[in-house]
Amino acid sequence: MLSKQDLAILRHDRQIPRYTSYPTAPHFNSSINSEIYTSWLKSLPADETLSLYFHIPFCRQLCWYCGCFTKITRHYAPIEDYANILAREIRLVSDLLKARKVCHLHFGGGSPTILLPETFRHLMQIIRAKFEIEKDAEIAIEIDPRNVSEEKISCYAKEGINRASIGVQDFNHETQLAINRKQSFELVYDCVKLLRKYGIEQINLDLIYGLPKQTFTTIKKSVNYSLLLDPSRISLFSYAHVPWIKRHMRLIDKNDLPSNLEKITMFKTATQELQNGNYLLIGLDHFVRKDDEMLLAFQNKKLKRNFQGYTTDKASSLIGFGASSISFLPFGYVQNTSGISEYRADILNKKLPAIKGIAISDEDKIRKRIIDEIMCCGETKIDQNKFSNELQKIKKLEIDELVEVRAGHIKINPQAPQTSRIIASFFDEYLRNNSAMRHSKIV
Ligand code: SF4
Repeated sequence: MLSKQDLAILRHDRQIPRYTSYPTAPHFNSSINSEIYTSWLKSLPADETLSLYFHIPFCRQLCWYCGCFTKITRHYAPIEDYANILAREIRLVSDLLKARKVCHLHFGGGSPTILLPETFRHLMQIIRAKFEIEKDAEIAIEIDPRNVSEEKISCYAKEGINRASIGVQDFNHETQLAINRKQSFELVYDCVKLLRKYGIEQINLDLIYGLPKQTFTTIKKSVNYSLLLDPSRISLFSYAHVPWIKRHMRLIDKNDLPSNLEKITMFKTATQELQNGNYLLIGLDHFVRKDDEMLLAFQNKKLKRNFQGYTTDKASSLIGFGASSISFLPFGYVQNTSGISEYRADILNKKLPAIKGIAISDEDKIRKRIIDEIMCCGETKIDQNKFSNELQKIKKLEIDELVEVRAGHIKINPQAPQTSRIIASFFDEYLRNNSAMRHSKIV
């Protein structure tokens, strides 16, 4: 069942960043602080269209595979307090900006669905008071079907949410026990039904392969259950077991994890099922229905990649709000502090809670363009003289039919999408200078 290219990917498998940014987050440093971020925000021109991200770092229960920044709480008081601080941050940042127009908003976490409707409504009122949300803006929220209700969904619809990403991961009961996340198909089905009842038609389902106790049969079933719900997009993320970064992943019995050979076979099995269900693979891990706007963005080479994965977001500046959130401006990246008490103290002192980041040099911009194109379009054109060393490395992949190179035009084999991460890594100067950093593997 495995192709020549799959076996080649297994041979080239190693720890490589996921390239949701370039330079990647491990290279952010303390040279970027509150003062620099303030000056960057002030320098954005008034006609700049923005994308806004809001991080809600709270969940009711810890999923053992979790790679996000979140805190577990049973109480609402810390969540409400955080939402009030977030509202202050929105005012603080917007007061520094001349730009107002927003074309994309995303509520992520953690679990943004943990917010009570009145808290969510209050945040939206402040956002609308401080920014001009374009009529056709995408307003998206990540949904944990275990803590959503009809009242919340009706509130999202009234507040303009038009895309919902539901965290499914896997429908297999054994896997759900092994990752500490129990949720039935019925629960997800009811959630999808409610979203549609309130007119939220753009629905994504997030699945993960490579989880404990998964087999080809269970992943096939999970994909088929997902297809029954007819979402516009299905993300099929590869589980990255990185217990040296996320200590709670040690709760997963590593003997229950599939081997790399099993993982790549699972990806193939799931891809086949999704393609049989008329979904098209875009980039590394997104499958889209033919009527989804992401397909058009991909075909027109307008697809982008950010910390949430692939996106159709058109804005060139992304402003992140909340603890640990990352902003991207034409000048570089900035990350807020992850410590909720430090975040709170900074905001109360009217100081931006920026703790690290990186300014983008001209050389970074050249390499970022190449990395973005290879990750989002699967092809790019490079200067053959400047990048002769990189081309030498790519030649080895060409022998394995993972990529085609013609006069500086690089095109990856769509049968082996993982190749894009390998090629991106060849253009990553920071990785070359800091190869000791540990990342997730490509398979
Ligand atoms: S719901 Fe999401 S953010 Fe919360 S613990 Fe589970 S995986 Fe992590």
